[in-house]
Amino acid sequence: MKLRLATVWLTGCSGCHMSFLDLDEWLIELAALVEVVFSPIASDVKTYPEHVDVALVEGGVGTSDNLALIRQVRQHTRVLVAFGDCAITSNVPGLRNSHPGADTVLERAYLQLSDSSGCLPQAPGIVPELLEQVLPVQAVVPVDVYLPGCPPPAARIRAVLEALLRGETPVIEGAELIRFG
Ligand code: SF4
Repeated sequence: MKLRLATVWLTGCSGCHMSFLDLDEWLIELAALVEVVFSPIASDVKTYPEHVDVALVEGGVGTSDNLALIRQVRQHTRVLVAFGDCAITSNVPGLRNSHPGADTVLERAYLQLSDSSGCLPQAPGIVPELLEQVLPVQAVVPVDVYLPGCPPPAARIRAVLEALLRGETPVIEGAELIRFG
C-alpha cells in the first residue's frame, strides 16, 4: 500500500517546498511509492484528510489559520516532520517576534513603512489574524522528526523520506543532516 504523504505550508517562504521539487527525477520514483493526499504543490484539497502517514510541515505557526491547520495535521498524521528551520525555530518569520505583538508588527509594516495611503489589511474571514508571535511547530504540537536547513537540501530531504519509506525513524546525525541555515 502506498504511503499517504502530505506537505503543509504554514508561515514560510515556500523555499522548503522548492527544495522538495529539487528532488528532480527521484520525484518519479517517489510518486510510485506515495499518494500525495494534501499539498500546495500537488493538489487543490482544502481540508486536511484523515489517516496521513507522513506530513512535511514547512514554516512557523504565525496566524490563526496556521494554528487551526497544525492541530488538524497533528490529529490526523502518524509522523509529523518539522520541515526546515522556520518550522523548527521560527527562523525568518520569527524575526517579527522582536516587536511586541501583532498590532505593532502590522502598524510598522502597513502604516509606518508605507510610502502613501497606508492601511491595515482587514477582511474578517478572509485575512487570517496574526498571532502575537510566530511559534516553532513543536511549541504548539509534538513533532516526530526534525529536518533542519533553510531550506533543507534535496539530498537531506531524500534521506529522511527514504528512511520513512522503509518504515524506519530517520536518524538525523552528522554534518550532512544536522545543519541549520
Ligand atoms: Fe523559507 Fe528557509 Fe523558512 Fe524554508 S526554512 S520556509 S527556505 S525561510
